[in-house]
Amino acid sequence: MKNAQCTKCLKKFQEKEIFTIQQFQYRQVPSYKWSIEFFKKLEIDEWDSFCENCLMEYSEQSKKKWEESK
Ligand SMILES: [Zn+2]
Repeated sequence: MKNAQCTKCLKKFQEKEIFTIQQFQYRQVPSYKWSIEFFKKLEIDEWDSFCENCLMEYSEQSKKKWEESK
């Protein structure tokens, strides 16, 4: 059953395939604290669900911003 929805692209997918920005706890840089602040500005919180593609996009986007802000 595809009963989950991506907050960004609105695509429907299975609940077990949900990704959230909590995923970014596991990356080395930027720090999770920095990431949380970054996504707060985009009005995204830790509980929003995303498909894998959109989360990858946010990953790239936030890393790029972080590089620029150094
Ligand atoms: Zn999506």
